[in-house]
Amino acid sequence: MKEKLFSAVEAERENLFSLIQKLVQIKSYSGDEKEIVEFIVSKMKEYGFDEAYHDSFGNAIGRIGNGPIKIMYDAHIDTVKVTETESWAHPPFAGVIENGKIYGRGAVDEKPAMAGFLIAGKVLKQLYGNDFPFTLYVVGSTLEEDADGYPLYHIIQNEGIKPDYVLLGEPTDLKVYRGQRGRMELKITATGKSAHGAHNQKGINAIYKMMPIVSDIEKLDKKLKPKWPLGKGSITVSNITSKAPSMCSVSDFCQIHIDRRMTIGENKNSVIKELKAIVKKHKSYAKISIPNVEGVSWKGARFSQEAYFPTWFYDEKHPLVDAAMKTSKAATGKAKSGAWSFSTNGVATAGHFGIPTIGFAPGKEELAHSSKEEILLNDLLKATKFYSLFPFELLKK
Ligand SMILES: [Zn+2]
Repeated sequence: MKEKLFSAVEAERENLFSLIQKLVQIKSYSGDEKEIVEFIVSKMKEYGFDEAYHDSFGNAIGRIGNGPIKIMYDAHIDTVKVTETESWAHPPFAGVIENGKIYGRGAVDEKPAMAGFLIAGKVLKQLYGNDFPFTLYVVGSTLEEDADGYPLYHIIQNEGIKPDYVLLGEPTDLKVYRGQRGRMELKITATGKSAHGAHNQKGINAIYKMMPIVSDIEKLDKKLKPKWPLGKGSITVSNITSKAPSMCSVSDFCQIHIDRRMTIGENKNSVIKELKAIVKKHKSYAKISIPNVEGVSWKGARFSQEAYFPTWFYDEKHPLVDAAMKTSKAATGKAKSGAWSFSTNGVATAGHFGIPTIGFAPGKEELAHSSKEEILLNDLLKATKFYSLFPFELLKK
């Protein structure tokens, strides 16, 4: 079976490479993915997927088969913007192929996975027709860069699709990734009493109330302990704002915004507890809150989600990870596991819903969002072999 699948993928080699080139050439900034979604849906139809459409949020969804085990392959197909300060050796939307590599925005994060999923789907349909022992959903999720997790949260919560297993196409450099650090955002708000600057002793300065809290957060970051294999969490004050009746008055409002990365064992409760202890230490009444992430999809769907994205991690012995390691060995000749340092749609599938999730794709994580995005086309070919074989390895479990 392996040989049959792999030689069918090999036969699609040129199609695969022109597909990734086309996907890079279609600009698809977060919230502006209409063109790429319609392109992907049309390819799914052309390749004989049993179903292909975009959902009420604007994600591209394709389905192959009707078997009892439901597997979801997800690749977010939005990208971050190209900014003027970045230097590109090749124009970011030209899809330049040179010396066996493709360059451009999205060439790592994470259009290759979508090209691979589409060709794997095509090959599976060609070889097995309607005789699948599983159901495979291929998702091109939108707005992931602005709201990691939300697109899949929407599909599971509102579109009636509940996968048993999820594979993410974020860059893993052909390793099996089995978790990620979580993240959350928080605000701390201190209030005081305004007074004329000439009579400042009559006021209570909210900025002065916040200063020791900021200083303790800086110290807390250094005290956070690493946990194998995700490393240490972090805490960063990312913004500070204050208000006063005028520039000649005592400030009566001060608010900080915090970015918190969480490792194994850290969660919403433990993070809030740490911050409450700091606030209490300074006998402050400052309030701690979690903001919402809000936005609008290209289809005009509004969303609002608490800015809490849980850590998730699976053991190497987990059946899903084990099946992925065996598939990797067959498709690439090696099997290594790892974890992302950034956040992915797994915060919804594994973090919120507890659905076993892994990642496998070409491309180095550290090149994502940079002007150096590039992958080896041969790695994309290997990943596509992986995507074609993986459901069968999983079914053995
Ligand atoms: Zn990504």
